[in-house]
Amino acid sequence: MAKNDYINAIKYLEKAIKLNKGNGIYTHLLDNYIVLAYAYRNAGDFKNAVYYYDKHHDLSDSLDQQDSRRQIIEMVTKYQVKEKETQLKLQKIQLDLKNTKLLNQKYLNIAIAIIAGLLLFTAILIFFNLQRRKQINNKMKSLDEAKNRFFANISHELRSPLTLILAPLESIIERTKNKIDLAELQLMKSNSRKMLNLVNEILNLSKLESGKISLDEIPVNLYSLCQRIFFSFQSLAKFRLIKTDFVYELDKNLTVLLDIEKFEKILNNLISNAMKYSFSGGNVSLRVLQVQNSLLFEVKDTGKGIHPDDLPKIFDRYYQAGHSEAQILGGAGIGLAIAQEFAKILNGTIEVESVPGKCSCFTFTIPLKPASKSIPYLSDISNKAISAKTDKLPKFKPVLIDGKKPRILIVEDEIQMSHYLQKIIGEKYDFKAVPDGKEALKLLEKEHFDLITSDVMMPNMNGFEFKEIVQKNRNWKRIPFIMLTARSLEEDKLKGFQLGVDDYITKPFSIKELLVRIHNLLTNKSRRDIWNKEDIYKSDEKTVSIEEDLLHRAKKTVIENIDLPEFSVSDLAGQLNYSKRQLERIIKKYTGLTPNAFIREIRLQKALSLLKSKKYLTVLEVCYEVGISSPAYFSRKFKERFGITPRDVNANK
Ligand code: ADP
Repeated sequence: MAKNDYINAIKYLEKAIKLNKGNGIYTHLLDNYIVLAYAYRNAGDFKNAVYYYDKHHDLSDSLDQQDSRRQIIEMVTKYQVKEKETQLKLQKIQLDLKNTKLLNQKYLNIAIAIIAGLLLFTAILIFFNLQRRKQINNKMKSLDEAKNRFFANISHELRSPLTLILAPLESIIERTKNKIDLAELQLMKSNSRKMLNLVNEILNLSKLESGKISLDEIPVNLYSLCQRIFFSFQSLAKFRLIKTDFVYELDKNLTVLLDIEKFEKILNNLISNAMKYSFSGGNVSLRVLQVQNSLLFEVKDTGKGIHPDDLPKIFDRYYQAGHSEAQILGGAGIGLAIAQEFAKILNGTIEVESVPGKCSCFTFTIPLKPASKSIPYLSDISNKAISAKTDKLPKFKPVLIDGKKPRILIVEDEIQMSHYLQKIIGEKYDFKAVPDGKEALKLLEKEHFDLITSDVMMPNMNGFEFKEIVQKNRNWKRIPFIMLTARSLEEDKLKGFQLGVDDYITKPFSIKELLVRIHNLLTNKSRRDIWNKEDIYKSDEKTVSIEEDLLHRAKKTVIENIDLPEFSVSDLAGQLNYSKRQLERIIKKYTGLTPNAFIREIRLQKALSLLKSKKYLTVLEVCYEVGISSPAYFSRKFKERFGITPRDVNANK
């Protein structure tokens, strides 16, 4: 081109174009096209010049396009790589995150497992602990029960020998004239009595612990009750030269609902302590008052007092104040414990204040529960009446049956006790003694007896089994039967009673008690033969004579009017159109009873059948139903007649 030899230039250039096209070297080709275009233009061939110029232009465009495409592709690739990297990073982060999460989860799981383990361990520990405590408690409970049983058994066992000490003692005291001997014998007697009280208190404790004691409230005249309890200490007070004061600040006719037995135990304990820990010449007082809705019984003494250290402990079982001469005085430290337990049952409290060396004041509080029916107070007990009370054996006319001395069958396995019974019974009656029920039955087959006394616990055949057989025999069932036993369990009494036992005497009994009961039963024997009281409600036997007919009508009339307390002998005589004297003669002839006793007997029989039925809820209802307006009188007479209290029959029906 520099030589301006455009023809050759064109030739070489076209050759070069071919070569570059074949080799695909487009950048050289681009140069070849523009130089060739110049060469043609300079050679004057404008047509080819334009042609190659266009080629150059097209190629240039195409190359530019290729370039930008490549750039785009590069960019896209770069972007994709970047994106991939980002994704990878993201994945890595996610993975890391996942790993961290997994790790965290793992730690969490471990932590949960540890906590659960700990909880389980604690639960197991608690469980075993509770189990152990339960076992210990059970053990303690059974130990406690064993202790109670032991105490109860020992107490029962102690009662028999106590009888054998107390009863002969009483009889020796009766006979003794020598004053010095008498004083010593009295000392023996009072100590034996103390022992008996202790035995009874231990029995009470074991009953308390076995939860067998429940509340048993009946309406009672509070004045009469408090007076009787307080004045029963009069002779002791006299003996110890202690002045007494009874202050009653309430209405004397106030009648309240009260569990007499527990109330009496509590008040007895407080007054007996006040006497026990008082000095000669001191003062013991009982004040009864009302504060808001409560009854307050304040027992004060001017005795030795209680040390402040001892005050909180004196209600503990077996606790005796450190400086006390309680042991010498015969206490065992259980009186107040029982009193407080009983007070709790009565919903009450006992509090104490004391100035050592000077005085003590026990305040016993119970809720005031006025009874709906009022029982008027009878009379004031005077000191004289109490000191005049004698303990002498009653003198009764000897009973004769068919003109002969009555015959008594003694069934007792304990040799000493049997000898003792033979001795006291033998003074007034004929008797035979056998060691058990089987022997007694053999003897009954052969000989006639007017009364049987039997122990409960005997070998071969016990008292209950024996009585059951006796009861089934027509010839024997009317023989008065006394159950004599060391056991004082109410269930036993009830069982004996249901078997038709006439009397139930708990050892230790006094000679007086036994002889009086034998005498009463024998006196009634003849009338029992004719007039079987148990049959009043069952039989409607045909009457034979006019007199028997009258007796029958008398029974019917009393039954018809049974709920009227005022129904009297005059009413009965009036309704039967007989004079009182005629009626009395006939009733006496057939039943051996006075008309009053006859009416009462029917009331009591009716009460018994009502109590045995399930119709009535309370003893009180039954009491009113049979026309007896004083529950205390009712209970006393019922017990005298059947040997068991109406409450016990009601509780066990
Ligand atoms: P105890 O049979 O020993 O009298 P208590 O349970 O009745 O048992 O009384 C426990 C203790 O409380 C007694 O030993 C005595 O020290 C003391 N105590 C009770 N009452 C009085 C009182 N009125 N005066 C002084 N001390 C009393």
